[in-house]
Amino acid sequence: MAYQVAPDVPDQLVGDPGRLSQIVINLIGNAIKFTESGDVVLSMSLASESEEAVTLACSVADTGIGIPEDKQRLIFDVFSQADSSMSRKYGGTGLGLAICAQLTAMMNGRIWVESEEGRGSTFHFTVEMQKRRDAVEKPVVDAGPLTGLRVLVVDDHPTNRGFLVDMLAEWSMQTTEAGTGVEALAALTGDDGEAFRLVLLDETMPEMEEHGLIREINRCAEGRDLAVILLVSAGQRADTGVGDYAGIACTVSKPVKQSDLLNAIMDTVAGTSVPALEERAGGLSEGVVARRILLAEDGVVNQRVAVLMLESRGHAVTVANNGREAVERFKSGAFDLILMDVQMPEMDGLEATRTIRGLESGSDHIPIVAMTAHAMSGDRERCLEAGMDDYLSKPIQAQLLYAAVEGAQATGRPPAGPESSSFAASPESAPVDWEKAVAQVGGDVAVVAELAGLFLAECPKLETGIREAVDGGNAADLRRHAHTLKGSAGVFKAETVVDAAQRLEKMGRDGDMDNAEAALSALALELDRLKPVLAERVADAKLQDGSGK
Ligand code: ADP
Repeated sequence: MAYQVAPDVPDQLVGDPGRLSQIVINLIGNAIKFTESGDVVLSMSLASESEEAVTLACSVADTGIGIPEDKQRLIFDVFSQADSSMSRKYGGTGLGLAICAQLTAMMNGRIWVESEEGRGSTFHFTVEMQKRRDAVEKPVVDAGPLTGLRVLVVDDHPTNRGFLVDMLAEWSMQTTEAGTGVEALAALTGDDGEAFRLVLLDETMPEMEEHGLIREINRCAEGRDLAVILLVSAGQRADTGVGDYAGIACTVSKPVKQSDLLNAIMDTVAGTSVPALEERAGGLSEGVVARRILLAEDGVVNQRVAVLMLESRGHAVTVANNGREAVERFKSGAFDLILMDVQMPEMDGLEATRTIRGLESGSDHIPIVAMTAHAMSGDRERCLEAGMDDYLSKPIQAQLLYAAVEGAQATGRPPAGPESSSFAASPESAPVDWEKAVAQVGGDVAVVAELAGLFLAECPKLETGIREAVDGGNAADLRRHAHTLKGSAGVFKAETVVDAAQRLEKMGRDGDMDNAEAALSALALELDRLKPVLAERVADAKLQDGSGK
């Protein structure tokens, strides 16, 4: 995956960042879902500009299954999928694009698709944003020490390589491209080879096997002033740390963020770094200091809850899908705080915390806040014992999260009491308490609607996981999947599903699965009640949203 933002796109605009990212996330989610191999590329440019406003043109291109021509208009309708066998294979609700169409229209834009079956799809959309009247000039990066810097860009992926070269050109660096290891070594050993000061090396180069290419590059670097920055794939590096690669100055995660790359280059070559672009450009809630947060969480719904809440306050969030990834991310990035789920696959939050504490030296101490849906006595103690500093129980409440992250009680709408439930007529039988769920994320219906969509998409996978764990008598898997489902359902206050999942989780924890079959049937029953209600709520929210503006 790669992305490119054209240099003339202003840093500061007035609009609704939450909704804009909702569109982008929907399109990228679809692109990844429907693409088995190849790439997903997000581009953003300036379509037009007036005194007061700009129109941004964005596209998300994939190389996936494509969409037949006669279906290309239909997919923007509510609950429609290009093919009815789709939901069986890919899941989904058919709502995402309808929501995108509505949101773009509300932002005076439009959305359309170009696609060829079997070759991929490109979704385009435009949105209008107001200019900031008090706009500060786009911060001029003092890339002074980097002007004319000779950089060798080694990446076999032409799109990525092109993006990198464009970024470097913006900072007036002088680039040479290499698409293969052989080309890279030829450039370094050629007549002009000694002029290079920096190599940007993509980790997924075919010649990287057994780190052969790095060794060769290091050999060229001997006795020269040449540094190597490794571009690593997010989420793919379960057990390789920077430590495995001798001679690497630092790593930057892909897709490469311009400010990360500039910082890394500044650090490496000039020994200084500049504040992240967004820190200077603003975008923060008033009075809030932006934090760089590492979020370790395996449940997709809970990930989104936390990311949406944090980003809406202006914090930068990096997601790790399990404890091992969290440790890797911690090693290669700079963070102010870690939010750590306790139950995660591969390495749980307690072990990850102990590992991170072991890696810290002397006076270093990154605050680690546990997030857990256990709500069992002794839990808090176990977290503190492992080296965590604070503790949040799931489902996460916006106010408490902000308080933990920002170190002060945030202001905002207090969560609504149970009496405000829209299901007051028959509270016992309601599979979901929508209003409470909305209040819990700070009052944004669209956010809960998006989460409901995610839940509906994630659910079949978790159900299959639980089914397989029960069939195979795998207690650990049962515990883990049931736990994730419980946490996700808790976001919607879907108490009956939460209870059913909790029973299964307990069976998994106790290793006593005699009654698992019955508990599983009960869970399936409750889920069958929950799902249509959620889908309906999502559609409702969308309609209300449309008429409300
Ligand atoms: P869903 O939740 O079903 O994915 P969407 O409204 O997001 O709902 O998408 C509707 C349908 O459009 C999908 O089910 C799929 O058939 C088609 N579609 C969306 N994006 C893509 C894509 N990038 N490639 C191929 N088909 C897509």
